[in-house]
Amino acid sequence: MSTEQTTPTPEAELTFADIGFAEPILRAVLEQGYTKPTPIQAQAMPHVLQGRDVMGAAQTGTGKTAAFVLPILQNILPLASSSASPARHPIRALVLTPTRELADQVADNAFKYAKYTDIRTAVVFGGVDMSAQTTLLRSGIELLIATPGRLLDHITQKTANLSQVQILILDEADRMLDMGFLPDLQRIIGLIPSQRQTLLFSATFSPEIKKLAQSYLRDPVTIEVARQNAAADTVQQIIHMVPSEKKKDAVVKVLNARIQKGLSRQAIVFTNSRIGCSKLASALERSGIKAGAIHGDKSQIERMQILESFKKGTMDVLVATDVAARGLDIADMPCVINHELPFNAEDYVHRIGRTGRAGAQGDAIALVDPSEERLLADIEKLMNRKLVRMPVPDPSGGVAADPFFYMPYRAKEDSSAATNSTNLNSDSAAGTASVNSTAKPSIKPTAKPVGALLGGFKKKS
Ligand code: AMP
Repeated sequence: MSTEQTTPTPEAELTFADIGFAEPILRAVLEQGYTKPTPIQAQAMPHVLQGRDVMGAAQTGTGKTAAFVLPILQNILPLASSSASPARHPIRALVLTPTRELADQVADNAFKYAKYTDIRTAVVFGGVDMSAQTTLLRSGIELLIATPGRLLDHITQKTANLSQVQILILDEADRMLDMGFLPDLQRIIGLIPSQRQTLLFSATFSPEIKKLAQSYLRDPVTIEVARQNAAADTVQQIIHMVPSEKKKDAVVKVLNARIQKGLSRQAIVFTNSRIGCSKLASALERSGIKAGAIHGDKSQIERMQILESFKKGTMDVLVATDVAARGLDIADMPCVINHELPFNAEDYVHRIGRTGRAGAQGDAIALVDPSEERLLADIEKLMNRKLVRMPVPDPSGGVAADPFFYMPYRAKEDSSAATNSTNLNSDSAAGTASVNSTAKPSIKPTAKPVGALLGGFKKKS
């Protein structure tokens, strides 16, 4: 596989108009309030528009969805038709995502970007009734966003036909492999014409991802906007050493200390198990904290309702497992708490990627029991950083008077605070552009009714 590394800086000055989008797409982009492309967009879009295969390594929150959706829309725009006939609307572009939440979010963006075109967009994922999706697919859809399992169900039922797909996008491909979707991907890709454009996005380029790219991409352009395995520089990481039986109390103390410091009440708390997730949310509720649990045992509707409450601010703490939280686009998330460390160090990077998105400032706090020291060492090795250990702040106890214990949680205006970690190898910071220097922090959550989240489509507004 021959790859080509792009030079990031000159393209970062491009505007959306320079990139060459048609008027209906530009209008939708401007309506979103995007003034200029983020670094991944500036680098990827011209190549996608040229029909090249692209392998993109981008952290969540970098604007990677628009980086592929906008040029796809542009590429299929000449084929868009206002005809009502389903035959005039075959699936031309297919986006595969690992989770329902990510599929929904990609679709949510795609609906907005395609708003002024004739391109029909739909999303299909499991956990909800198939019949509404079947009706949509039968009516004809050009841009389909899907999770692999549900797509295969539709293929089996002959409600989805991939024989005219020209562009395939594998979003969060690393997670699809982690979740065991490789056989499903192979089946799906086998149904798509080999003459196609393929885009692959992944948080990291592991050997497995490289192998996948070798099998399915042709002469891809490789784009990386941040150091591999790095957290955004705007994320301050703090380790509190806490015995496991005291972790629930530590979460409460951390949240209260943040409130005393004048910071947002909102946080995502990660747990490793579904049971632990539900238990912690209930325990927080009993401590007077408005909390909800989001994990794989919850129905799709429950998950979406909880997510909406959290986005609206009627819930302060979202307790989540990795799979449920993957791909959630919650804007300006100020704080991520790891109730326990994940077994896989890369998951730690994904978890803390919920905060510090698109240039915003965030705190990533991990509660670490001595038995988790080995996991912590793996994380430090992966991130090439030694993370600073600090005692848990106790707003009600004796240490409350000591400002040292509050220092970890920066006040909003304290944006110059240094990242609370030591870089073990300064060379590792060299190389590719960091998205944080140019991305806009003003990204707002999308408030939408839960009903709209159930997998819908748009024709033309
Ligand atoms: P993503 O990395 O695709 O999950 O995007 C993260 C957030 O960035 C989403 O809320 C997008 O609406 C937003 N976004 C995407 N592109 C831009 C842009 N060029 N300027 C500002 N915000 C953007």
